[in-house]
Amino acid sequence: MKAVLYDAPRSFAVQDVPLPRPGPDEILVKVLQSGICGTDLHIHEGQFFAEFPLIPGHEVVGTVEAMGAEVVGFSGGEAVAVNPNINCGHCEYCRSGRTLLCPNLKGMGTNWPGSFAEYLTVPYQFGYSVEGIDPDVAVFAEPASCAMHSLESLDLRPGVTALIFGSGPTGLLLAQLLVHGGAAHVTVAAPTQFKLDRAKALGVDQTVLLDRQDPQGTARRLREISDGGFDVVVEATGSPEVGEMCVPLTRNGGTVLIFGVTRPSDRVSFSPYEVFRREITIRGSFAEINSFAAAIRALRSGRIRTTGLITHRFALDEYAQALKTLQTDRSAHKIIVTV
Ligand SMILES: [Zn+2]
Ligand SMILES: [Zn+2]
Repeated sequence: MKAVLYDAPRSFAVQDVPLPRPGPDEILVKVLQSGICGTDLHIHEGQFFAEFPLIPGHEVVGTVEAMGAEVVGFSGGEAVAVNPNINCGHCEYCRSGRTLLCPNLKGMGTNWPGSFAEYLTVPYQFGYSVEGIDPDVAVFAEPASCAMHSLESLDLRPGVTALIFGSGPTGLLLAQLLVHGGAAHVTVAAPTQFKLDRAKALGVDQTVLLDRQDPQGTARRLREISDGGFDVVVEATGSPEVGEMCVPLTRNGGTVLIFGVTRPSDRVSFSPYEVFRREITIRGSFAEINSFAAAIRALRSGRIRTTGLITHRFALDEYAQALKTLQTDRSAHKIIVTV
């Protein structure tokens, strides 16, 4: 079969690799399409616990092509999305139910063969039926599940105000979940106008254009409109410069949620006195293990929408072009790689 295969960071080719055979508890998924996301750029650089050689890709929708003898609950040809995060099941974290903290975590497309390929095998417990959902919606199951996990970890008090820095597809999925999850008012701040227009169309209350040349000016503007700060401030850009703006814009007793992927070496400063005096919580939301079914339900019902998010499509052979578009094309929002 054809697959994008990295032998080392920044070094890949679309080439023929052996067709994987499903083990007794595995399904063989025929890939229809996969989303490409910012994490794939970090993986390209060898970051984000990537292990090589590697087939990347972790946002997939496809159909069940074959299955092992022990697989239950699936039928041939069924449309599926795949939860890419596989915990070990036997470490202290797994055994105490905190599966996402598993130090042996395997991530499809990170340190386990991913979906920029014609086929992939996964243990059937990680497959989820998306029968009846438009594949252009179902392909958002993984980013929607990360957003769902964020909503769960925020434990939102009804009536709060929220600010999200960043208007990438996953950020806008989270923005919608905050809108429907009890926030009284949701603001999205980002540097790209068409993405803010999309945020508005998807139901956020207010958008603010982030001026890259004058972040302090944007911070002042946000402070003015927020009446003393936001109860929840989500960093969903992965930019340390934006990270610096979060604590000062958080209202007393509020929460800063780190959701964007930075480089491991990035640093953000904050005033410990301010965090202490104003009782601010700083927390992270990384990926998810247990939020996939809820995310698919929200996509299926239309509670979270993806209308207009897909802007570009590439064939598997054009993976280099897809990556380049993600890196450099300001008109790109969600990019899909079709098999
Ligand atoms: Zn992703
Ligand atoms: Zn574990």
